[in-house]
Amino acid sequence: MNLADRVGRVRASKTLAVTAQAAALKALGKAVINFGAGEPDYDTPDNIKSAAIEAIQQGFTKYTAAGGTPDLKKAIQEKLRRDNGLTYGLEQIIVSAGAKYSIYSLFQILLNAGDEVLIPAPYWVSYPDMVLLADGVPVIVPTSAENNFELTIDDLQKNITPRTKVLVLNSPSNPTGSVYAPEKLRAIAEFLEDRDIFIISDEIYEYFLYGGAKFYSIAQFSDKIRAKTIVVNGVSKSYSMTGWRIGYAAGPAYIVRAMETLQSQSVSNPASIAQAAAVEAIRGDQSSVGRMVCAFQSRRDYIVGAFQKIAGIQCPCPQGAFYVFPAVSALYGKTYKGQKIAGSLELAGALLSEKLVAVVPGIAFGDDNYIRLSYACSTECVEDGLSRIADFVRDLV
Ligand SMILES: *Cc1c(COP(=O)(O)O)cnc(C)c1O
Repeated sequence: MNLADRVGRVRASKTLAVTAQAAALKALGKAVINFGAGEPDYDTPDNIKSAAIEAIQQGFTKYTAAGGTPDLKKAIQEKLRRDNGLTYGLEQIIVSAGAKYSIYSLFQILLNAGDEVLIPAPYWVSYPDMVLLADGVPVIVPTSAENNFELTIDDLQKNITPRTKVLVLNSPSNPTGSVYAPEKLRAIAEFLEDRDIFIISDEIYEYFLYGGAKFYSIAQFSDKIRAKTIVVNGVSKSYSMTGWRIGYAAGPAYIVRAMETLQSQSVSNPASIAQAAAVEAIRGDQSSVGRMVCAFQSRRDYIVGAFQKIAGIQCPCPQGAFYVFPAVSALYGKTYKGQKIAGSLELAGALLSEKLVAVVPGIAFGDDNYIRLSYACSTECVEDGLSRIADFVRDLV
């Protein structure tokens, strides 16, 4: 018997596939260096864990309101005002099982069959598939390293059609690490203000900024743009809480209400215990975030410097997130011990099998000229991994 057509349209996440392959080799006792992971290597801070333990002990272990507890919504409301200067009512905020589910449910409630979603490439792997799951059409808009991987007004003009319903923005970006300059965001905001296009602003890497980069949400630029923007964020990356599954969205009340209905008829509330922990993450001591970002900045500096010494690889210096996205296409066509490196998939495959270094092929993010390395792994790992990559490139013929 046949499965639904929509299942056939989507593929499993390629980043998770690399992580699984690397884990399988590790289980065989191999010394794998994993640059594939999309999560910080730090443990969840103790104050957050204690809040969860306390929630369990106090019996906070039952269903909550489907869209999240009032307490957590208040903490998120305060955070958006404090960090972003954005004022939302509690009815404009929804908590979900990860930012990923917020984005998934947004496409479910915004898209009719055939509606188009503009996705600047390189993009986070899940956006196109989520759009397909909502019967929408992902419209991939390539951006370039020369433009800091930022979307331009020209790109918008060329790709907007009468079916365009949503634009997805992700700054700081996974996978490129680029951070939109405020004047670029403002230009996009002004261009879209009077058009019937929603903006999903994925701000999950908000705090991961280096070298003086500043974060802006597109929702900040005017009331008009705020009325069509849904801000998505969460605790996964900022507080090393990927496994706790707490994300959130803030935007117009009619949108949030529809998301709550969808959530109440699908997954119901995010875990009560994780919600209690997220309150502490957002309201409590923030010093762990600063320490982590500081460590990431020195790893970034090391990794960018090391790539500069490898001929054939061009590594832009990212201003945010915890990824580097080097251009490797100058290596294509060469061979390693008889294996031809035709593209990013072959390069990632050979690095893993020959040097036990896991990276994600750029093709997973919509650009085959690159690979992505996460530097959310220890400094020793970063150093060892980069020297293995240098050895590998040296032996290419
Ligand atoms: C990790 C990530 C998410 C999802 O985070 P969760 O809250 O763990 O679901 C969303 N967007 C981007 C760009 C990410 O890298």
